[in-house]
Amino acid sequence: MHTPSTEPRPSIYYTYQVHQPWLASQNGPQARQKVVIVGSGPAGLVTALELARHGVPSVIVTSELQVSPGSRAIVFTRRSMEILQQVGVADRMTANGLPWRFGNSFYRGQQVFRLEAPHDPDDRFFPMLNIQQQYLEEYLLDACQASPLIQIRWGNKLTRVEQMNGYVWAEVDTPEGPYALETDWLIAADGGRSGIRSAMNLQMEGASYEGFFVIADIRIDLPLPTERLAYFDPDWNRGNTILMHREPHGIWRVDYQLPEGETPEEALHPDSLKQRINAQLAMIGHADTPWEMDWCSVYSARTLTLPDFVHGNVIFTGDAAHLLPIFGVRGANTAFQDAQSLGWQLAFVVKGLAGQRLLANHSAERVGAAREIIEEAGKSTRFMTPPAGGFQLLRDAVLSLSLTQAFVRPLYHWRTSRPHEYTHSMLNSVGDDNGLFTAGPAHGAPPQNICLAPNEYLLDHLGGGFDLLYFTDASDMPSELSRVIEAHRTQGVPIRVIAVGASQAVKGADKTLPDASGHFRQRYGVRANGAGYLLRPDQHVCARWLTLDATRLAAALKAALPQ
Ligand SMILES: Cc1cc2nc3c(=O)[nH]c(=O)nc-3n(C[C@H](O)[C@H](O)[C@H](O)COP(=O)(O)OP(=O)(O)OC[C@H]3O[C@@H](n4cnc5c(N)ncnc54)[C@H](O)[C@@H]3O)c2cc1C
Repeated sequence: MHTPSTEPRPSIYYTYQVHQPWLASQNGPQARQKVVIVGSGPAGLVTALELARHGVPSVIVTSELQVSPGSRAIVFTRRSMEILQQVGVADRMTANGLPWRFGNSFYRGQQVFRLEAPHDPDDRFFPMLNIQQQYLEEYLLDACQASPLIQIRWGNKLTRVEQMNGYVWAEVDTPEGPYALETDWLIAADGGRSGIRSAMNLQMEGASYEGFFVIADIRIDLPLPTERLAYFDPDWNRGNTILMHREPHGIWRVDYQLPEGETPEEALHPDSLKQRINAQLAMIGHADTPWEMDWCSVYSARTLTLPDFVHGNVIFTGDAAHLLPIFGVRGANTAFQDAQSLGWQLAFVVKGLAGQRLLANHSAERVGAAREIIEEAGKSTRFMTPPAGGFQLLRDAVLSLSLTQAFVRPLYHWRTSRPHEYTHSMLNSVGDDNGLFTAGPAHGAPPQNICLAPNEYLLDHLGGGFDLLYFTDASDMPSELSRVIEAHRTQGVPIRVIAVGASQAVKGADKTLPDASGHFRQRYGVRANGAGYLLRPDQHVCARWLTLDATRLAAALKAALPQ
C-alpha cells in the first residue's frame, strides 16, 4: 500500500497544499485511457497542458500529495516563458518572479567578467526570470485543474508497467491499495530517478562528474540586485566555485562546491552549513547580516541521455529522459521544450493526423537537443568543477590570467540554456527557399518575436496548430492558397493564417498584422509581397518562401505531417 506523506513540507516562504488522494473505489470502473502521464513535475504538467491544447485528454498519476520539495529550478529562460505563455501561466510567472540579465564572475576579490544577456526590444520576456519551482508547479497545476481534458490523480504511484500489443498495462498503488490502468500511450515524466526507466532496463549514455555541490536557500536581506554571482577559488573554499542567486520572498540561493572526499551527509550537517554560509557572507561583506535556512540539498553534475525517448507505447520525457547539469539552468528549461515538442506530435498521432513516424521525429529531435546541451553543459561543468590534470591546469591559468588579461575573460561565459534548432529535421520542407533568405529564423528555429504595439507581440498571436505567416498588402489571400488551407482544415489539421503587412484586414486570413514601418519584414528577411513562413505547432519554422504558391505550401504540409 502506498502511503504518501500528508504532512505539509516545511518552508519559511511557501505554504504547501496537501491534496486528497485519488481512490479507484470512489471512481467506478477504469476505461482504457488515451494518454497517462506519470509524474506532476514541470515535464508532466506542461505535456498535459500541451496535449489539452490540441484536444487530447490525459490522466496524470503522481505519487505525492503536494508539489516539489524545495525551490529546485529557480531560473527560467525567455524561451521557457514563451512556452509557458502558450499554456497560460506566463503572466503569473512574470507577476511573481524576478527578471534579470547580468551575471558577474569574481576571482581574488576582483570582478573579472560581466555577462550581459541580450534583451531585444522585440522580446516580451527578459532573458531570465527567477522564481521557485513550487510556484511554477502551482501555476501549472491550476491551469491543469481548469482544463476539462486533464485529470490529476494525487497519491497514485506507478509500480509496474508492461507493454502489451499496442497499449500499456500499468499497476498503480494508492493509499487503499493497487489498481490496474490501461492506456494507449504512457508518458514517463517520473523524474531523474525514473522507476519506469529502471523497470524497462534502459541505459543512459554520457558522463557523471566527480564532486558534489550544496544548494542552500536562506532568507536574508541583502542589498544586491537580481544578478547571477559566481565566485571562483575563494579563500574560504580553495579550488572550488560558489554561485549566488536572488529568489522571490527574500530568499537567496548559495550554491557551493564541496572539497574532494567530503560526503553529502557531512556537508548537510547544520554546523558545516552554518560555517560555510557565514564564510561566504563574510567574503561579500555581510558577515553580520542575520539569516535563516529554508532548504538545502546536495547534487552532482551528470550529462546523460537515453539514446531514444520512444519505446513502444512508452515515451520518456524531462529528467526521466535525460539528466543535465544545472549550470546553465538546463533541467526544467529543457523539460519545457521536450513537453512542447511531445505535446503536438503525440496529439497529431493520437488524432490520426500523422503516422507514428512523427513520434520517431520527436525522439530524434529531442535526443539531438539533449546531446547538444550535454556538449555545451559539459564545457561549463568542466570550467566550474574541473577534473584533475589538464582541465584543472587550464582553468587555473584562465583564472589567474583574467586578473590582468581581458582577452581570456569571455572564457567565463556560462552558456545558458537556449532553444535547440531543428536544423536537420525531417519535417523541414525540401523545396522551399530557406537557403535564399539572408535574415529571419531559418529551418528548425523558433520564431523571432516582434513587438507590434505597446504590450502586443507576434507570439501572442501564435499557437494551437500550424501558423502560416503570409506577407502581403493585398486585400485578399490568394484563393489557391486558401484552397490548400481549407482542404487541410477539413481533414482536421489546425492551421491559422496570419497576414503581415496590409493596413486593412486581409480577407481569408484569420488575423492581419500591419507592418507600416517594415520592421517585421526586415527581421524576417522578406523583401516583397507573397513571401511566407510556415511554423509548426511548437512554433519552430519548417518552411519559408520568398514566393509562396499552393503547390509549395501543400508540399511543406505533407513533409511536416509524415504518414
Ligand atoms: C537542487 C536543484 C536545483 C535545480 N535548479 C534548476 C534551475 O535553476 N533551472 C532548471 O532549469 N532546472 C533546475 N533543476 C532541475 C529541475 O528541478 C528538474 O530538471 C525538473 O524538475 C525536471 O522536471 P521533471 O518533470 O522531468 O521531473 P521532476 O520535477 O523530478 O518530477 C517527477 C515527478 O514524478 C513523480 N513520480 C516519480 N516516480 C513516480 C511514480 N512511480 N509514480 C507516480 N509519480 C512518480 C514525482 O513525484 C514528481 O511529481 C534543479 C534541480 C535540483 C535538484
